[in-house]
Amino acid sequence: MNQDKIDLYGPLKKYFGFNKFKGLQEGVVRSIAEGNDTFVIMPTGGGKSLCYQLPALMKEGTAIVVSPLIALMKNQVDAIRGISEHHGVAHVLNSSLNKTEINRVKSDIENGITKLLYVAPESLTKDEYVDFLKDQNISFFAIDEAHCISEWGHDFRPEYRNLRRIIERIGNVPIIGLTATATPKVQEDIIKTLGMNNANTFKASFNRPNLFYEVKPKTKDVVTNIIRFIKQRPGKSGVIYCLSRKKVEELAQTLQVNGISALPYHAGLDAKSRSKHQDMFLMEDVDVIVATIAFGMGIDKPDVRFVIHHDIPKSLESYYQETGRAGRDDGEGYCLAFYAYKDIEKLEKFMANKPVSEQELGHALLQEVVGYAETSISRRQYLLHYFGEEFDPVNGLGAKMDDNTKNPKKRTEAADSVVKLLKVVKGSKEKYKSKDLVATLMGKANAMLISHKTNERDFFGIGKDKTNEFWTALIRQTLVAGYLRKEIEQYGVVKITKQGLDFIKNPTSFMMTEDHVYLDEDDKSIII
Ligand code: ADP
Repeated sequence: MNQDKIDLYGPLKKYFGFNKFKGLQEGVVRSIAEGNDTFVIMPTGGGKSLCYQLPALMKEGTAIVVSPLIALMKNQVDAIRGISEHHGVAHVLNSSLNKTEINRVKSDIENGITKLLYVAPESLTKDEYVDFLKDQNISFFAIDEAHCISEWGHDFRPEYRNLRRIIERIGNVPIIGLTATATPKVQEDIIKTLGMNNANTFKASFNRPNLFYEVKPKTKDVVTNIIRFIKQRPGKSGVIYCLSRKKVEELAQTLQVNGISALPYHAGLDAKSRSKHQDMFLMEDVDVIVATIAFGMGIDKPDVRFVIHHDIPKSLESYYQETGRAGRDDGEGYCLAFYAYKDIEKLEKFMANKPVSEQELGHALLQEVVGYAETSISRRQYLLHYFGEEFDPVNGLGAKMDDNTKNPKKRTEAADSVVKLLKVVKGSKEKYKSKDLVATLMGKANAMLISHKTNERDFFGIGKDKTNEFWTALIRQTLVAGYLRKEIEQYGVVKITKQGLDFIKNPTSFMMTEDHVYLDEDDKSIII
């Protein structure tokens, strides 16, 4: 390793024209330049690409970049070619190339011209490529979208599982894994599967202090609400997400009829209309895009002022990604979600034909969405806790930027109830999910509790004086506070932490707020 510090600023300026690194980039680039395994967790827009592109351009040999997204690979290759005098500085290797093109790629690699070789994971499994690459000078492997390796992420790709084996066949070179998914379980999976135990890890904060978060009950007035919201922000850009193409079309039309400049975007539109609508949004010829989740990948419009969810998404990862498109320029970004439990049930129904394990995982992810929507604590704190990050709801950056902290509900001392809850979790041997813990506290036997004889235990029913909603809220709040934790592998089974055990022995204060109750089925005012 170099004793002298490698100069990074010269190359940063030379290749990218930037004078400064963004966020944690400098440490990451240095770590790779010095030949270490490196793990990078940064939210979308954090500047991950430069983290491997710059060291690749600086180092001898070719860096292999594994990415699942062919369209994004092509964009990146074009961008890199734009900053170098050699066309061959970056290539994509995939099944769409003909023999001549493949030979060109190979000779550029052999001649040391190619600094970045982008490959899809399935191409890397081909013996022909592996045999060629193992005789080449490879500088390092960059695994982009590394969360695809994990079943607990939102975009599992089985081919990612074989990467470690293939990397070992090609050569003993450093690995850099990059992802924008920050849940602790996914991180653990990436490190384990890629064998990166000694990696230097760089994790950027996922806090977006300029975003304001709000959840409103979804009543029959939802569309009127949306129209009013937009009309209060004339000329501002915004995105509205809906679950179905049909809803997208309907809502876009309703907005147009009401004098709002809006266009639809979904995968059912032909490619020409899609790119036209997207361009019009980027060029500010239209204010609002009403879209399904098909909209957003690679959209880099800095001044999106609001993101509205007409329908709640299927996970908090998706919610974070989608709301993350607001306020990229650090200006205002209003994130408003409409929530009705019926929408959750609808999403559950979509999963009905999937394998059981997938359904259970999907269910656990949805319960987190429910928790976010119903919580009365800081939404930022709830979201960041989900991503494994602590947040101080009083003094943290962006502390007052959500509906709950702006209009706080009354808080009451609940230390006694916390002790009851913790004793039930411990006494029932940490084997229940939230729903069964509530049933135990309330003394309502079900098949599961009877089969474990929980209904015969002395703590059965010790929380009868409170309501289901009270206990559900308390479980969520003690999870965020760190007295309990959830096992995602066991689809949401609740365990007690050391901090929780200490609280039983020495109960201090615990101030809780009751969650919002969003009425659904029985409430006639709800239409969806
Ligand atoms: P990610 O892959 O993490 O979503 P990108 O690599 O696409 O992020 O980068 C997001 C944006 O930040 C891009 O427009 C990129 O040009 C810009 N960017 C990256 N690094 C820097 C830097 N050091 N200085 C200024 N802008 C940067």
